[in-house]
Amino acid sequence: RTTGTSAATLLALAAEHRPNYPGLVDDLGTLTFAELDDAARRLAQGIVERHRPAPGATVAIMCRNHRGWVLATVAAALLGADVVYLNTEFSAPQLAGIWARVTPDLLVVDAEFLPLLPESPVPVVAAWHDGADLPVPTVDELVAGHGRFTPRGRVPAGKVTILTSGTTGTPKGAARKLSPMSVLSPAVTIIRRTGMRSGDPMHIAVPLFHGFGLAMWALALFVRCPVVLRRRFDPERALADVAAHRVAFLAVVPVMLQRVLALPEPVRRAHDLRGLRTVLSGGSALRPELAERFMAEFGDVLYNGYGSSETGIAALATPADLRAGAGTVGRPTIGVPIRILDGDRAPVPTGRSGTIFVGGQQHFEGHRTGSTKEVVDGLMDTGDLGRLDAEGRLYVEGRADDMIVSGGENVYPQEVEDCLARHPAVVDVAVLGVDDAEFGQRLVAYVVTRGARPTAGELTAHVRANLARYKVPRDVHFLDELPRTPTGKLLKRELPS
Ligand code: ATP
Repeated sequence: RTTGTSAATLLALAAEHRPNYPGLVDDLGTLTFAELDDAARRLAQGIVERHRPAPGATVAIMCRNHRGWVLATVAAALLGADVVYLNTEFSAPQLAGIWARVTPDLLVVDAEFLPLLPESPVPVVAAWHDGADLPVPTVDELVAGHGRFTPRGRVPAGKVTILTSGTTGTPKGAARKLSPMSVLSPAVTIIRRTGMRSGDPMHIAVPLFHGFGLAMWALALFVRCPVVLRRRFDPERALADVAAHRVAFLAVVPVMLQRVLALPEPVRRAHDLRGLRTVLSGGSALRPELAERFMAEFGDVLYNGYGSSETGIAALATPADLRAGAGTVGRPTIGVPIRILDGDRAPVPTGRSGTIFVGGQQHFEGHRTGSTKEVVDGLMDTGDLGRLDAEGRLYVEGRADDMIVSGGENVYPQEVEDCLARHPAVVDVAVLGVDDAEFGQRLVAYVVTRGARPTAGELTAHVRANLARYKVPRDVHFLDELPRTPTGKLLKRELPS
C-alpha cells in the first residue's frame, strides 16, 4: 500500500470500505470503487512489465474526462511516478514546446491526440480509442492482460505538475507534491462550507487536467463520492446527468453556467434537479449578473472558488457571500493566508485595491517548469488585482496585466464587462485596452448579443449611465462568439484586431 494522501491510497481505502459502491460513471458505464482499484493495479502491473519505468519516472497524461485519466493517474501513483497533465487543447507546436522542458518516460493519451505528438522515442499507451486499430497498446489491453500490482514497501508520493492555461502566453508548469495539506486544506474548506457528505455523487464537468478539475477529483476520492465524467460538456446532458445520477455536487466554469441558462426553458425544466445542493464555479471570473440569474432559477446552490495552477483553491464564496457581496470570491480557504500589497509590497488598508498575494502549504514547487511568480514572505504574487472587505471577503478585480490606463486613469476591464453584461441584449463580452495616440490606451469592447442587436451607441450609453466617463468603451465590435479556452478563459490574442 502507498502511504499518505496519494491517489492510490485514497482509492485503496475507498475500495476497502465501500467496494461495491459506484466510484465512477463515464461514457462507457459504471465502475465500483473495487473495480477501479483493481483496474488501476492491473494497469500499473502492465506498465511495469512492458516499460520497466525507473524510480522517479515521469508519466504524461493527455486525456479527456473518462476512466482512462483516472486509471493512469492511480497507476502512476502506485508506481510513485511523477505526473504531468497535458491540456487536451494543446496544439502540436505547443506540445513540442513542452517536450523541450519536460521529457516524460511514458505517455498515456487519447487516440485522437496521437497525430499531435512530437516525434520521440517515448513509449505511448492509448487511453480512449473508440475501438480503432492502433499502432500502440491500449489501457484496456494492459488492464486485461496483467495481474494486480502490489507496491513493495512504502512508495513515496510523486510530484504532480499541472500546466497553467496559457491565457497570457506559453503555458507554464506548476509542479506540486500532493502533500496532506494540499489535499486537506481545500477539501476541509469545501466540506465545511458546502455541507458535502460522503457518498454524494459529484459531476466534474471541468477538465481534469486543469488544477480545478484535479482538486475536485481528489476531493471526491477523499470523501468517497461517486464521480460522473463526460468527455465533452453538453449543457443538456449535464442536467440529465444531475437528474439520473442524483448528482449533489456539480463543478463547472462560468461559461458552462451561461450555456445551461441559454437552454430553452422547457429543456431546463424537464429535469428533476432537486438533489443538486452545490454548484461550484471556478477557473475564471463569475459575473455577478450570471450568479444572480443562476441563483434566481436554481436557488441558493452557487459557490465561487478562486485559485490558480500554482496556489490551488485559495478562496471560496458561499451563496450567502455572493448575496452579501456581489462578485466576491469569498473568504480564504483554511490555512491559506491572503494579503493585498501595494507596489512597494506593503499591505494596503481594508477596502483598497492592490495585488493579491496567496500563501499556504499547497504552493507549487518553484520555477523549474517556467513559472516566475514573485514570492514575498512565503506568499505568492498571483498577478491578480483585488481587495478585501471588512468581513474578510476577497474581490478579484482582474489580472494586473489587463489593467487599462486611459488618459491617466486606471480602468479594470472586468468592471466594464460586468456592466455591459447587465444589458439585456448582451450574452458575452470582453473589454480590452488598445494603444491610442491621445489617451495612451483606449477601451474597446467585443460583444456577443442575443435577439435584436443594439447599436454600439446604445451599449456605450448604458455604460455611461452606470460608470465614470473614462470607463466608456470608444469602440464596440459585435462577434458571434468569443474565443475561450476549455476552462472559459478569454483568449485575447485570438480576437480580431
Ligand atoms: P497563464 O498563467 O498561462 O496565463 P492562467 O493564469 O490563466 O494561465 P490558471 O492558473 O489556470 O492559468 O488561472 C489562474 C487565474 O484564473 C487566476 O490568477 C485568476 O486570474 C483567474 N481566476 C481563477 N478563478 C477565478 C475566480 N473565481 N474569479 C476570478 N478570477 C479567477
